[in-house]
Amino acid sequence: DFSSAFSDVFDDLFGDFMGGRGGGGGGRQRAARGADLRYNMRVTLEEAFHGLQKTINVPTAVSCANCSGTGAASGSEPATCGTCSGMGKVRAQQGFFTVERTCPSCSGAGQVIKNPCSSCHGAGRVEKDRALSVNIPAGVETGTRIRLSGEGEAGARGGPQGDLYIFTEVADHQIFEREGNNLFCNVPMSMTSAALGGDIEVPNIDGGRSRVKIPSGSQSGRQMRLRSKGMPSVRGGGVGDMFIELQVETPVNLTTRQKEILKEFEALSSENSPESQGFFKKVKRFWDGVKGQE
Ligand SMILES: [Zn+2]
Ligand SMILES: [Zn+2]
Repeated sequence: DFSSAFSDVFDDLFGDFMGGRGGGGGGRQRAARGADLRYNMRVTLEEAFHGLQKTINVPTAVSCANCSGTGAASGSEPATCGTCSGMGKVRAQQGFFTVERTCPSCSGAGQVIKNPCSSCHGAGRVEKDRALSVNIPAGVETGTRIRLSGEGEAGARGGPQGDLYIFTEVADHQIFEREGNNLFCNVPMSMTSAALGGDIEVPNIDGGRSRVKIPSGSQSGRQMRLRSKGMPSVRGGGVGDMFIELQVETPVNLTTRQKEILKEFEALSSENSPESQGFFKKVKRFWDGVKGQE
């Protein structure tokens, strides 16, 4: 019984090449290729940035060492199945119809083992945990597929090994949002800091920090680009950028004194809010226009 992180990948995704390699094409069935395994690996954004080496335990079926994967006890050979004459399928008459089914004696293998191996009970495979050291390259994204050729399940009765696929899923980050190789970071900023401007420090995904100059009078939504502070590309070639977006915060929980200061500031303000003033001019013109049509 495989752990929930694993599942056979005989789905549409691999349907094409599985058909090419595993399909018998009629007649006697060959030793079946082992199943492909899928391992879902969740990594943090920091791990995706640096790349990582991780040892995973793969509970997989491996070729039985006792019988070299044949399923037969030492000294005996698998024999052609008498029920299906090695075809792996039997035909039965059901009314007017002939129905073809997998041979019940050999389960489709075409061979039977009269004297089964005591270790694997004739299956040719045993389940075993294998520790596998896996290199996850820097830059992986959610949905990145890493193929480890021949690390899947052993084939039945000496068939070739399947492959192991590692699917990475990058967890959401508390500060950065990722889009392709670029990182986005919302930076809240007090109304007064945005108005006055100045230097701020923003975090980088490598754990460091960047100093960013905020021009005085910066508005909410202003974006700034920090070149090459994004994610590396998993295919190589270039590093993404980091974008910060300012979010100007209106002050809350004002004291009486603060309210007084702000009212004083308001009284002294004339051309400090061109957007608002421009908007209200447009609104006034709009209302005047409506009035003119009446
Ligand atoms: Zn059979
Ligand atoms: Zn065995």
